[in-house]
Amino acid sequence: MTNTQINQIIHEARGLCWHMIEYRKDEITMPRFRCSKCPDRYPQNNPDYTSDWSNWGEALEWAQRQKWWADFAYEMRPASPVHTILNVFLREDLLSPSEGSTALAGFIVKHPEYFKKEVEK
Ligand SMILES: [Zn+2]
Repeated sequence: MTNTQINQIIHEARGLCWHMIEYRKDEITMPRFRCSKCPDRYPQNNPDYTSDWSNWGEALEWAQRQKWWADFAYEMRPASPVHTILNVFLREDLLSPSEGSTALAGFIVKHPEYFKKEVEK
């Protein structure tokens, strides 16, 4: 997976728009940059979870609030049985943006059942 793919997978799993920003010029308003996928009037640049600690921190906090977090942490547990005895269930290297975002995007792709969009009633 490329860093862009990792970023988009995580961002969309959070329910956020991966903006496709284009320059629009219409007759009524001043020309401006808009997203072709959502109505956001002032779309920000898409975040980089793979190298930006602030963005990755937001994603990590979001992930820890999800019902699948325990499954993710268990899948990513350290191999050493000592860690299991100490109740350490997430490899320390996954706290870093590059390693953590790669693991999280892989988990999202592997478990689409956790990320199905709710059907509106
Ligand atoms: Zn958008």
